[in-house]
Amino acid sequence: MKVGIPKEVTQDETRVAVVPSMVSALTKAGHEVWVESGAGAGSSFSDTDYEEAGAKIIKGAGDLYASADAILKVRPLTEHPQLKKHEADLVRENTTVIGFMAPLSNLDVIKKLAERNVTSFAMEFIPRITRAQSMDALSSQATVAGYKAVLMAAAQLGKFFPLLMTAAGTIPPANVLVLGAGVAGLQAIATAKRLGARVEAFDPRPAVREQVQSLGAQFIEMELPEDVETAGGYAKEQSEEFLRKEQEAIAARLSKTDVVITTAQIFGKRAPILITEDMVKMLRPGAIIIDLAAEQGGNCELTEAGKTVEKHGVTIVGAVNLPATVPVHASQMYSKNITNLFRHLYQAEDGQLDFEDEITRSACVTHKGEIVNEFVKNALK
Ligand code: NAD
Repeated sequence: MKVGIPKEVTQDETRVAVVPSMVSALTKAGHEVWVESGAGAGSSFSDTDYEEAGAKIIKGAGDLYASADAILKVRPLTEHPQLKKHEADLVRENTTVIGFMAPLSNLDVIKKLAERNVTSFAMEFIPRITRAQSMDALSSQATVAGYKAVLMAAAQLGKFFPLLMTAAGTIPPANVLVLGAGVAGLQAIATAKRLGARVEAFDPRPAVREQVQSLGAQFIEMELPEDVETAGGYAKEQSEEFLRKEQEAIAARLSKTDVVITTAQIFGKRAPILITEDMVKMLRPGAIIIDLAAEQGGNCELTEAGKTVEKHGVTIVGAVNLPATVPVHASQMYSKNITNLFRHLYQAEDGQLDFEDEITRSACVTHKGEIVNEFVKNALK
């Protein structure tokens, strides 16, 4: 297949779907790799790097989309600013597109892909099973976000993170609170610990307690509800009663907290509010909240997605797309994920997809003119 890698056109996106070092993983599997000129520039990869890796450089997205059999992307299909056409109309009929699709918030795009007989796969829908870990882009990119969130907080906080014993006095470590200890939260804990902070964390999934403690952080003890997890390992939406108790447990710590990193999310739902405006007022002036759930509505009531605001003396960062601020490694990890998925999907010699396979079945959104994904079908009912 001719695998096309376009330049991402979403504003401030710096990542690229396939980095030069992953080109050979595709060419060795018998594919050609065509890369739009400049596609890697935001991640510091030049056209020459791609050519040396065995890819062919194509000038302009129009020609790339017109000849590729499969398009590998990072961001959801969107209006192409130069070509003045939607990327869903640029993808050739009867071909394949793979990337983060944000299918539930782009239902019209998904309908268009089905109408145009495009087979599409959403990286968001890769099942969280052991066999699919090497394809799990939600995890790889959440790792980047968790790491970067802590660095942003450290850079903005007017204090040190580590304990310092100096001739100019002893400085206590910063107190960091991490709410939601999934992939991003655990990486935030690890990064804050490496910088020397004192870290506390909470997550309603019982398995997380041990993971938090193994990173040297303190788990906030609370009575957990019985039925917390879905079969897929995601947290279920919690009752108002539980959230109120959780807010109380968090509030009890805020007067001593310097940095709060929030990552709590519920698959397909608005993120839970864990920090109300009254709770923001309990933080010390100069405290920082980095809200990684900003795009899902935010874990803090005062978060504004994509903005940094100061409220009641507290800086609240509505963090969006932090992986794009670490483009080299974010692209490298994403590239590994999407290449592994592509090779998995098209491993049959006749190029046929195997819908008996859980990964193929779960990640597929449209195929042969139909919307095949259950989540999307339900959203359209
Ligand atoms: P996510 O981004 O959907 O949510 C982040 C965290 O928020 C989760 O840990 C969740 O439990 C937590 N959360 C939800 N409600 C909360 C609340 N009220 N207060 C505090 N925290 C709350 O999750 P994720 O990081 O993508 O991971 C989700 C699950 O998938 C985890 O169980 C993880 O271990 C699992 N996972 C499995 C694999 C695999 O086996 N292949 C790979 C990655 C993740």
